[in-house]
Amino acid sequence: MVIRVSDIPEEGLRFEGPEAFPEPFQDRAWRLEAAELAVDKDGDVVFVHGLVRSRVPQVCSRCLEPYEATVEANVDTRLVPGAATRGEERELGRDDLETDVYAHDLIDLNALLETETTLGLSMKPLCREGCGGLCPTCGVNRNAAPCACPPAADPRWSPLKGLADRLSK
Ligand SMILES: [Zn+2]
Ligand SMILES: [Zn+2]
Repeated sequence: MVIRVSDIPEEGLRFEGPEAFPEPFQDRAWRLEAAELAVDKDGDVVFVHGLVRSRVPQVCSRCLEPYEATVEANVDTRLVPGAATRGEERELGRDDLETDVYAHDLIDLNALLETETTLGLSMKPLCREGCGGLCPTCGVNRNAAPCACPPAADPRWSPLKGLADRLSK
């Protein structure tokens, strides 16, 4: 969904529902579940507010199993014309709004949804809260089957353990 800034009417534009954004993501495995965007213009500055919810295939960082993460993100972005169309620099980021630039009178709302979704992805994705992960000793997925390995010693205690060993001699 690409919009032309000069076509944005006085009252702004409203987009509701994922069907307003056919094929929003470059990766076809990503699915847009919900999207609501309000696009308003003040001179040549464009404000985009709303929310996006997507489902994105991820791999759990603990047990390495694939799963689908639900990502919800608020969209709160101000877009100003790029230097290419204005020939002047603007002071960016004076408040909490994210500021972006657009060029050639065009704004790609799909790219915006994709960026917000990407930013909402966890750096350490977990398939579930409290995922047991893989056993460091035998490699079994502890969510699926418990293993008989003793719990690994916490390395943070090893200096104390050494001290205790010395004291007991
Ligand atoms: Zn997991
Ligand atoms: Zn084990």
